[in-house]
Amino acid sequence: MPELPEVETTVKSLSGLVVGSKIVDFWTDVPQRYSNIQNISFLKKEILSVKRIGKNIVFVLSGGISILVHQKISGHLLYGTWSWDGSNWITEDNFLSERVNSFIRFIFVLDNKSMIVLVDPRKFAKVEVWENSELDKKINKSIAPDALSVSKKEFIEILSKRRGIIKRVLMDQSIISGIGNIYSDEILWDAKISPYSIAKDVDALKLYNSTRKILLKAIKLKGDSMSDYRLVDGSKGSFQKEHRVYGREGLKCLRNDGGIIQIKKIGNRSLRFCPVCQK
Ligand SMILES: [Zn+2]
Repeated sequence: MPELPEVETTVKSLSGLVVGSKIVDFWTDVPQRYSNIQNISFLKKEILSVKRIGKNIVFVLSGGISILVHQKISGHLLYGTWSWDGSNWITEDNFLSERVNSFIRFIFVLDNKSMIVLVDPRKFAKVEVWENSELDKKINKSIAPDALSVSKKEFIEILSKRRGIIKRVLMDQSIISGIGNIYSDEILWDAKISPYSIAKDVDALKLYNSTRKILLKAIKLKGDSMSDYRLVDGSKGSFQKEHRVYGREGLKCLRNDGGIIQIKKIGNRSLRFCPVCQK
């Protein structure tokens, strides 16, 4: 699932490509999934900015409306040019034509003929059109402090009130926004904190520093493409080359402390950690 660094990378890249363009048409193969898309017209509207709110991508348009995209489990956005061959959308571009980029569910056509495309093999992603005032209300009510912009003080305060295990608390989008399975594993290894520690008992300052360090490093590397996520040009990010625990189960801990990386289940998710340095 795309996490904060992947969404941030997408937003930064799209900002440089689509701001100032108008949306002139759209296409989808699953209109029933995008129920409110026709209630508020976004055609002929100019894209004023693209921003990230938690794991959401928000296109702010002229006329006081916004389009919100949540990529959910397997979605990612691409930018380029495709044409319809009668049964499929096809493109000449090498990266964009890779299989992982071929599950096209939604297309925004821009006035310069380029397209913003939602690829989503598992069809869980959301595309919603909002009046800005309504979107602000929803965001204020439902989006927790952002993992990257939360202050040190607020982060420490949030953890001090939580009695759940830290792995769950870090991934809980109603507590802190933006962190999922990969980055929580990597952050906890970096901070030498056991994923089973009770949140209010961990060294919150150390965890705050590791959170910033890992997320900023991942943004610099343009996200993690171990699974479906790709950059908007269809190519891969490279954080997957920097994993210390995620996907390393059964291997020696890179701290050479004699630990072997373990994998355990919590609910329907898995966690990975070194039992020697993460106590
Ligand atoms: Zn270790």
